Amino acid sequence: MKVLFCSSEVVPFAKTGGLADVAGTLPPALEQLDVELKVIMPKYSSIEDKKFSLKKINDDLYTGKIGGKVEVYFLEKKRYFDRPYLYQVNGADYPDNFERFNYFCLQTLRLMKIIGFKPDIIHCNDWQTALIPVYLKTLYKNDPFFKNVKAVFTVHNLGYQGLFSKINFDSLGLDAGLFSVDGLEFYGKVNLLKGGLLFSDAITTVSPTYAGEIQTREFGCGLEGVLLKRKSDIAGILNGIDYSEWDPRTNKSLAKNYGPENITDKYENKVDLQKLTGLPIDKKVPLLGIITRLADQKGLDILAKVIEDIARMPIQFVLLGTGEPKYHALFEQIKNKFKNTSINLNFNSVLAYKIYAGADIFLMPSYYEPCGLGQLISLSFATIPLVRKTGGLADTVIDYDPFSCKGNGFVFSQYEAGALLETLKRALCVYNNDKAWKKLMLQAMKGDFSWNKSAKEYLKLYKKLKAKK
Ligand code: ADP
Repeated sequence: MKVLFCSSEVVPFAKTGGLADVAGTLPPALEQLDVELKVIMPKYSSIEDKKFSLKKINDDLYTGKIGGKVEVYFLEKKRYFDRPYLYQVNGADYPDNFERFNYFCLQTLRLMKIIGFKPDIIHCNDWQTALIPVYLKTLYKNDPFFKNVKAVFTVHNLGYQGLFSKINFDSLGLDAGLFSVDGLEFYGKVNLLKGGLLFSDAITTVSPTYAGEIQTREFGCGLEGVLLKRKSDIAGILNGIDYSEWDPRTNKSLAKNYGPENITDKYENKVDLQKLTGLPIDKKVPLLGIITRLADQKGLDILAKVIEDIARMPIQFVLLGTGEPKYHALFEQIKNKFKNTSINLNFNSVLAYKIYAGADIFLMPSYYEPCGLGQLISLSFATIPLVRKTGGLADTVIDYDPFSCKGNGFVFSQYEAGALLETLKRALCVYNNDKAWKKLMLQAMKGDFSWNKSAKEYLKLYKKLKAKK
């Protein structure tokens, strides 16, 4: 099985969100299953040749490795990618994003011929690579090189669709009829994601629940009709996490490593986090953590309504995140008003490790969550997730039942500030019972969200498509 995996971001080279984590960790897991796989991404200026031991192989192509063995191709085009950020600067999208990623898609198709790699499957991800299946099934339809090549398209977040002015459509060289309701047109604009959904052989998204949700009016972001039409080709495959990074037994950034056998050592990390953030040192006080993009999607609007009530409880609160200016302003106020809070409005991977390890409860009150990595990481760190029942959160966090003592977190359903607050009070009650909490921590750590199972599901899908003539 040969696969070309296309992504606009890949860990450790460039990351703005969960897509990069998936693109950097799923390919090595597939390689373990004997898939012959190559990855392609743009070469942004932040990707230093020396740091990543990249090799230049021709005018516009470099190669590097992930997971020791998987080859990654970096497409260089200074005019488009030699920029400090991936998609936007100071909150505004680069005005030529359409041209930039159209170029990336066209060159990806060209590249396969240059390196002589004819894949069975081209696996595309999100709007940035959505034109690849479109070209494959239109302009390249009769190209013998691409005969029987199938396209898989994964939606990591339907909220980001790659919407551009209709004047861009002509530059694609596609049949004019494709600028229509049954094509790439979307309320008078060009919708690249819609193209990916229409022209791929299979569509996947990153959790089974989200796969169902995106076919509804509430979560379909206007594309539910398109998705319903392709219902039989949609699969939800849960993301995994890379335990070589997200294991409290081995993570090098922790004050003290810990596992189920020495779980109380987790509290050394709480003290370390309190010292680092200037919070009063107190092993016993419940410490709430949140690491997130500051966006409505993440439930920040309901959290905002009750954050003062929460801050007045006998707890400590640590936030790490960046995003919408209105939330920066809100949390600046909280920081000034409440001494038991630590507000960190930046992106900081080391502090993230320390929060995952040092907090007792991890908040993810998302309005929608395609998969979510935060809850998987916090489970691994025995930091109990408190989540809303949506998307991947619904598939991975089971509400704690005080009678049977089953469950691995706390879950609420209604998207309401009151429900969040009540669930937090419920969690704090359990926290006050040392024995029950310890048991809950051990249960949380038992979950296995490695890529093993999900990579097998992708392989099964690839095989099914390959067998189709
Ligand atoms: P998203 O919708 O943003 O992709 P996910 O939960 O799928 O959400 O993944 C977010 C990832 O980014 C997690 O690994 C989380 O720990 C990390 N992250 C988010 N914000 C920050 C930040 N400010 N600093 C460090 N890591 C962050």
